[in-house]
Amino acid sequence: MVHKKNIVKIINILKKKSEISMLASLSKRPPFQVLISTVLSARNKDEMTIIATKKLFAKYKTPKQIAEAPLKKLEPLIKQSGFYKTKAKRIKEISRIILNKYKGIVPEDMDKLVELPGVGRKTAGCVMVYAFDLPAIPVDTHVHKIANRLGWVKTRTPEKTEQALMKLVPKRYWLDVNEVLVIHGQTTCTPISPFCSKCQVRKYCKRVGVKKSR
Ligand code: SF4
Repeated sequence: MVHKKNIVKIINILKKKSEISMLASLSKRPPFQVLISTVLSARNKDEMTIIATKKLFAKYKTPKQIAEAPLKKLEPLIKQSGFYKTKAKRIKEISRIILNKYKGIVPEDMDKLVELPGVGRKTAGCVMVYAFDLPAIPVDTHVHKIANRLGWVKTRTPEKTEQALMKLVPKRYWLDVNEVLVIHGQTTCTPISPFCSKCQVRKYCKRVGVKKSR
């Protein structure tokens, strides 16, 4: 049985790390740009996403500008985002919907966000957290893997992890979960071979003791 007190302790310990995630670094930008950046970050490295977003927003900043931009002009700007042809079509369509259905304003609503093409719960959750400071628990591979390693959840899919975490983590900490676990996953609890011996939260981790740490 996981103690909520320990979850809060772990979150507070990991919050002391100095690194910030790519999305946190974009959180001062307008919500529309956070949304588009999150879509471009799918299955891509952060460094490449940053290059693509900088190039894109240097030329096209608003839903109207991207909706009206020809695909042939969008594609080279976001080439570093990977799958750029598909993503160019997607961000154009999202921009068109934001412009026509929501008068150019990104909705602060999980249900409306997940109706946008190519926007799943993880992307929508990132927009809620990083663009609007509203409670959500976006679950990417880091969050899914680490929540299982720590023993917070025992789940097979990110969707199940999100549901379990929403029951387990006190709501005032939801905003922190993605950020602290993504950074922990990038720096210490790496996907293939985590650095357990230098982990700040190892004494609370279920995996330690089960597997030999390094
Ligand atoms: S002890 Fe190891 S598995 Fe557990 S959270 Fe730390 S790095 Fe990850």
